[in-house]
Amino acid sequence: MASILDGKAISAKVRAEVQARAAAFTSAHGRPPALHVVLVGDDPASKVYVASKEKAAAKAGIAGKVHRLPAETTQDTLEALVGELNADPSIDGILVQLPLPKHLDAQAVLDRVDPSKDVDGLTPMSAGLLLDGRPGLRPCTPSGCMRLLLEAGLDDLSGKHALVIGRSLLVGKSIAVMLLAKNATVTIAHSRTADLAAECARADVVVAAVGRPELVKGSWLKEGAIVLDVGINRRDDGTLVGDVDFEGASARASWITPVPGGVGPMTIALLLENTVIAAERREG
Ligand code: NAD
Repeated sequence: MASILDGKAISAKVRAEVQARAAAFTSAHGRPPALHVVLVGDDPASKVYVASKEKAAAKAGIAGKVHRLPAETTQDTLEALVGELNADPSIDGILVQLPLPKHLDAQAVLDRVDPSKDVDGLTPMSAGLLLDGRPGLRPCTPSGCMRLLLEAGLDDLSGKHALVIGRSLLVGKSIAVMLLAKNATVTIAHSRTADLAAECARADVVVAAVGRPELVKGSWLKEGAIVLDVGINRRDDGTLVGDVDFEGASARASWITPVPGGVGPMTIALLLENTVIAAERREG
């Protein structure tokens, strides 16, 4: 039976560390680190995520504001707001909550974010620094996954095969680079991959970041695999389920993240950590 990679417990530890760093920053610089979040429209899931981020930031001693804009906001208005947040020296982190309403060009908005304030790690500069293995602000969800491995003593991946399912910059591509940096031999699978089960069968680490409920079956996994389930899917009855069949996978894996209570809480904790890192760097 697999051991649980407990995102709730580990994220609490990370948040406590962040809180101490935020307090030290505040006494050194006479102001707290500040995170500004931009939320456009009424996407229900985004509203919930933003409310959790707002609450967690306040608890950690991070100041800030949520800019709630109507769904019909224009590209120009949104980019102008990002420009204002870039120019305000008291703001350390800017997060534009995705997805944006369909009429908006998300990439163009992200391109406007000052890389020194890019706490979501999604600007081209942040992506380039990650790819090159240089210090920078990393996307929060893949960083959260890597922290789970680190805290469980599972982060030396020399000689291991890692399979990442999904190729978004937000998760799949970024965690593939992070796993590579830990010396894993990495395969990236996606919607055009021919035989996902066969790819899973040789993976010591499986990261599922797809958005398909229980796509990955327990029987596909190698005995003793480490499973990081990033997927968040809502069932008709309102409950959440990951991209991995948790019950089946638990019988074969050595370690597994639950959904909820696995990767999700880590994402928020790493966002707070990124904000403090950005604040510390910006103050030199
Ligand atoms: P995305 O839609 O951008 O990417 C999904 C990827 O899955 C694509 O690259 C696609 O090629 C691949 N894919 C689709 N169908 C496939 C199939 N049948 N077999 C193999 N690959 C397939 O999504 P995303 O933004 O990367 O998010 C993925 C999931 O992770 C979603 O469920 C999302 O809600 C969740 N997520 C969770 C957190 C968290 O904090 N836990 C954060 C971000 C995203």
